[in-house]
Amino acid sequence: MITAEERAAELYEVIRSCTMCALAETRTNAVPGEGPLSAEVMCIGEAPGMNEDKQGRPFVGAAGKFLDELLAAGGLERDDVYICNVLKCRPPGNRDPMPGEIEACAEYLDLQIDMVDPLVIVTLGRFSMSRWFPQQAISRIHGSVRDIDGRLIIPMYHPAAALHQQNLRQVLLEDFRQLPQVLERARARREMAPPAVTHFEAATAAAEPATSQTAEEPGDERALQPAPTGAQPEQIRLFE
Ligand code: URA
Repeated sequence: MITAEERAAELYEVIRSCTMCALAETRTNAVPGEGPLSAEVMCIGEAPGMNEDKQGRPFVGAAGKFLDELLAAGGLERDDVYICNVLKCRPPGNRDPMPGEIEACAEYLDLQIDMVDPLVIVTLGRFSMSRWFPQQAISRIHGSVRDIDGRLIIPMYHPAAALHQQNLRQVLLEDFRQLPQVLERARARREMAPPAVTHFEAATAAAEPATSQTAEEPGDERALQPAPTGAQPEQIRLFE
């Protein structure tokens, strides 16, 4: 029997050896992401920085320290949350991610969202925000909660922005303080409408004796819908 954790480990291995874009040539370590697969909250940053590249873990530098503080303001600890980035490899000199790099990595993020199936996604900075809100300004929509495909998405400033602009510190803290209420709302909604099986669960179930529900079952419409950006797990051949 293949567990969800084993599937995740398989995905992380694929990411660690990925050569889908030129960042593979300059990285020290790819940074797949980390956290419990049962996390209710997923935080999505931009890309690994120098410390993350060295350690292969997300948000371990100064921005990560502030992220821990922000999570605490939201009643959470790092271990409660799944943390990853739009890009899994560091852009040289911490330059902005390029469109081709975001595209090359998009499928990994699709799979992570599918496998964690969080109640709430916190986007950190404009690159993760623009996955759901491509035309919006972060200064206008930060801290507002949007319901997208039955999940609550909250765009927030990137913690690193507050390291350069002190006034954003309070803004971020205020936005994170909303999290307990947002989570309550998301839990109540999930109780009323439990999710259908995800791609990830379906793939895990398909690898087991056929006792559990699969995406092929009639009436399971959500399971048959594509992931948000249209990527299918089969594309990176993890779920055969
Ligand atoms: N900034 C990010 O966006 N991600 C990290 O992992 C670290 C810094």
